Amino acid sequence: MKCSKGNNNLPNTIFLYDDPSSKNLILDEIKKYLITQLGQVNVKIRKEFITFHIDPKELEEFAEKIAQCKIRNFNKSEDDFKPLFGEIRFEKQLIENPERKLTGILYEGIKLDQVFLGLIPEEELDFNNLHIVFTNRLFGTFEENDGRYHARVIICGYPSLISTSGIVEAPAKPKEYYYLKQKYSTLEIPPEVFKEEFYGRFIDYDDPRLTEVMKGYVMQSVFYHLSNDPFCEEKNCRLYNSHWQEEVLCAQIDGELCKKHNQILTKFKK
Ligand SMILES: [Zn+2]
Repeated sequence: MKCSKGNNNLPNTIFLYDDPSSKNLILDEIKKYLITQLGQVNVKIRKEFITFHIDPKELEEFAEKIAQCKIRNFNKSEDDFKPLFGEIRFEKQLIENPERKLTGILYEGIKLDQVFLGLIPEEELDFNNLHIVFTNRLFGTFEENDGRYHARVIICGYPSLISTSGIVEAPAKPKEYYYLKQKYSTLEIPPEVFKEEFYGRFIDYDDPRLTEVMKGYVMQSVFYHLSNDPFCEEKNCRLYNSHWQEEVLCAQIDGELCKKHNQILTKFKK
């Protein structure tokens, strides 16, 4: 889909696809942010990606393709397996009810991206269009260096996928949080108790800061489109590749685009 150095041009149209299970995700606000940053780019807000594109006749087949992306073994990258009937039915129900909250399943991010790509109609499949899909599905990528899957917030690709569950689950919470959870693990204390203790120090489900945080991830998709390089070394740049929740807050709540990335955007701004 792309040349190795990116497209060197802003897209004409950016499509933002909603995640109806995240009530605090306000795409209108992200649209305004994009226009402020990029100038007169055409930003179109669409409903949930699968609902928007799917032909109902292909629902069953598509549900099977999604079920095939499910990670079954966290320590092994598996290519081919036949999903169970129940797994396909589950995916079908999820597609039909995208406002449903979803936890506990991790999908292979690159595969999922490929499956989503298959739904984009040909006339929208080129460098002039950037598709950014918000989803509540949690996805990960397999890391050869430690031989396991890691959950991710974003897959920069075509389309780009941004996970509203990934922002909660992927960047690690403060070390003390895990320490306390471990220390009291035998007491069956509900996770909410620990979460309260660390309130504000990480992004949680239904977090009121979700839209603000997601602006930075949308910008990562834009920079991937421009240059194939979505990340920055500066800790308070929106493009910082955060591995800790505290880094997410530093980059997305306290930060903005750094000087270097602002200058790059000025070059492209329409
Ligand atoms: Zn930067």
